[in-house]
Amino acid sequence: MQQIANLYPQFTGPKKQVVITMHQKPDGDAMGSTLGLYHFLKQFGHDATVISPTNWASFLNWMPGCKQVLDYERQTEQSNQLIEAADWIFCLDFNTLGRTKNMEPALLATNAQRILIDHHQQPQTEVFAYGVSDTDKSSTAEMVFDVIIGSGHADKINKDIAECIYTGVMTDTGSFRFPSTSANVHRLVATLKEHGLEHGIVHEAIYDNFSESRLRFIGNVLLNRMEVFYEYNTALIAIPAADLVKYDIKTGDTEGLVNYPLSIEGIKLAAIVIDRGEERKCSFRSKGDFDVNTFARKYFNGGGHFNAAGGQSKETLENVVVAFKKAMMENRDQLSTYKF
Ligand code: 5GP
Ligand code: MN
Repeated sequence: MQQIANLYPQFTGPKKQVVITMHQKPDGDAMGSTLGLYHFLKQFGHDATVISPTNWASFLNWMPGCKQVLDYERQTEQSNQLIEAADWIFCLDFNTLGRTKNMEPALLATNAQRILIDHHQQPQTEVFAYGVSDTDKSSTAEMVFDVIIGSGHADKINKDIAECIYTGVMTDTGSFRFPSTSANVHRLVATLKEHGLEHGIVHEAIYDNFSESRLRFIGNVLLNRMEVFYEYNTALIAIPAADLVKYDIKTGDTEGLVNYPLSIEGIKLAAIVIDRGEERKCSFRSKGDFDVNTFARKYFNGGGHFNAAGGQSKETLENVVVAFKKAMMENRDQLSTYKF
């Protein structure tokens, strides 16, 4: 994989067919970074299309350009044609092609140059022609900002780009509170503000746009589905499939739920397991020195970052809960000493 800076001169070169994609079930950073790059590359006259491997949460629909994003599962033929005809395929906010689920074969078969922009650990660098991978970055959206600045085109930042990048950085930093919120992140926000960003609108669009039933669902989850294990500084939420039906829970409605238990004093590890029917999806969050990336890799077929990771299992919800408790006990020494 060559450094992405070697690609920059071609931004101003002949028109390219460009596909930009992200991980399945895109979150704010996946959608924000891809759309930010899309609005940037279009200004050079390139033909760009954003393709999501799956559907996404409706709270992202307001984002500039979101209506033009293709859903690979619903628009497979059109997407495959674009992937096959592409010169460049930008892969954003994921480390291995497997994170694009059903899109992986098409991404491997194309003659296009694959370009990585990502902040996850252990990227599959051998399948990319160009790229940048930096686990110290707050978000992929921050890395798209760095590409724009690094390629010498800060003048191209407009309100659409600013809103998309801000969404990605804001959501991946827990609204600028995680340790990854560097001085560079705050400088980025200042630059976006200078280019027309109205940050209040973004916060409202992302965080104050849910249904009443989602709020009642959260009430039910915190009251009835959460177990706290004080001697392990750990809390677990397990959500049966029936709850999702009862409260009409859609893609994205469960995002962020895993963070609630971390607000309990002393809790160092929070986990959530959701019965999604075809699989049990797990999310892990930690504070301080507990490495959930390793934890998710070792026990739940997953991975992610040091303090935020995920995984999945084909076992029943009950069995996943049992497996989690066993894994928690195996990590007793690390969990029971709370260091911040
Ligand atoms: P979330 O809990 O929000 O779904 O994911 C947290 C982090 O863990 C994200 O950075 C995501 O990329 C990563 N992650 C989530 N699920 C999986 C998984 O099944 N496998 C791997 N390798 N990473 C995951
Ligand atoms: Mn991200």
